[in-house]
Amino acid sequence: MLNKFPRAHLAAAILMGAVVSTTMILSPSADVEAGRMSVSLDLHSGQSTPLADAQTSSAAIAGNPSASLTPNRTDTQPPIAAPIDVPEEPAYDWSNFQIESGDTLSSLFKQAGFNDGLMLSVIHGDGEADKLQRLYAGETISFATDSAGALAAIKLQRSRLESLNIERTDTGYTGERVVLEPEARITYAEAEIESSLFGAGQAAGLTDKLTMELAGIFGWDIDFILDIRKGDTFSVVYEELYLDGEKIDNGRILAASFNNDGRELNAVLYTDNDGVSAYYTPEGRSMRKAFLRTPVDFARISSHFNLARRHPVLHRIRAHKGTDYAAATGTPIKAAGDGKVLLAGRKGGYGNTVVLQHGNNITTLYAHMRSFARGIRTGGRVTQGQVIGYVGSSGLATGPHLHYEFRVNGAPRNPVTVPLPDAQPIASAELARFKAVTQSVLAQLETHQSASQMTLARGE
Ligand SMILES: [Zn+2]
Repeated sequence: MLNKFPRAHLAAAILMGAVVSTTMILSPSADVEAGRMSVSLDLHSGQSTPLADAQTSSAAIAGNPSASLTPNRTDTQPPIAAPIDVPEEPAYDWSNFQIESGDTLSSLFKQAGFNDGLMLSVIHGDGEADKLQRLYAGETISFATDSAGALAAIKLQRSRLESLNIERTDTGYTGERVVLEPEARITYAEAEIESSLFGAGQAAGLTDKLTMELAGIFGWDIDFILDIRKGDTFSVVYEELYLDGEKIDNGRILAASFNNDGRELNAVLYTDNDGVSAYYTPEGRSMRKAFLRTPVDFARISSHFNLARRHPVLHRIRAHKGTDYAAATGTPIKAAGDGKVLLAGRKGGYGNTVVLQHGNNITTLYAHMRSFARGIRTGGRVTQGQVIGYVGSSGLATGPHLHYEFRVNGAPRNPVTVPLPDAQPIASAELARFKAVTQSVLAQLETHQSASQMTLARGE
């Protein structure tokens, strides 16, 4: 859900970001005000970090275990605490093989010096030993041999976090899938936009993926091509994921603020009682709208809503009750909002058409489809962003495009300008929990913002 982006412009924003970041390397004058700090936050107690600590560098954090935000999130592997009188685990001889395409389990056993008979007894072992049959290129398989030359254990490392561990028992072999949970450390970053969102994000130490997520959160309110101004600022509190003290990835954005042309927007991540995570304003309103503004990406408007238009095929005045988006044949078309499928079928000059019934007496219509998406049929239900079909030129169409209509109480409205209702806010019964859960991370965002403003005011 969080990867859903409401605006086709976002794709263009990435391209622009790539161009800008290239020119930034060439031109040092294209400087970006940016800062990034890793700080110790404690979401559980809601303590705010003293201002003096706000400048803590990530290097200092790395050596400070108390910087961990979430003491409950640790490796799932139990600590090795062997009593003194138990003999140490026998030393095995391990041989490792990087799995390449074309390798089979049989060929890997052979390389390790073991035969197919032994391989069969391993994969017929207990637990999840049979999962050893699913091998993928890029994984590493390790065979442990005991002092007698017999196979004692196998470890299939699927990723940094996931492995399949098989061990010899008295009765054969037994396998267990082990998934490590990385430690999430909370990081704060802020930036001022000089020329592009992605340039500012990079200067603040954010990956493009994280900047993309940030744009996705605010993309319902800010057009990242048209609305962005020099001097806009953003700040973000997000997770960095560590394993054994080494950063392996970024986690979720927990809270963010965007100051666009003097307008400040704040968002906070919240997981509701049903386990669904989404971004809300601090007051509990959804950051999302109930409808996507544009149901296709990578499209341009080829014909506007116009109730007095001359029809291009019929050559007479006929209202154009929707917006046409020209796009390549086969481009996915998304449901603008949650709803029920009133029609998925042929509809005269509209060709292959889907009509959706939403709440608030709103219907949306998608025409000239090449084909419907799998599972889309009259009477079914769809969720916002779900692919319902593909751009084509069925019916009366001069070329591949989506004809999109937005009707309120049956009356056609301009899809480009019609005010879109917000998605569901936090339910009033859950509002107290929402406030309690989000309070501390919002306080952290605010503390760091004011800390950096003080620093700027002192001219440091
Ligand atoms: Zn049209």
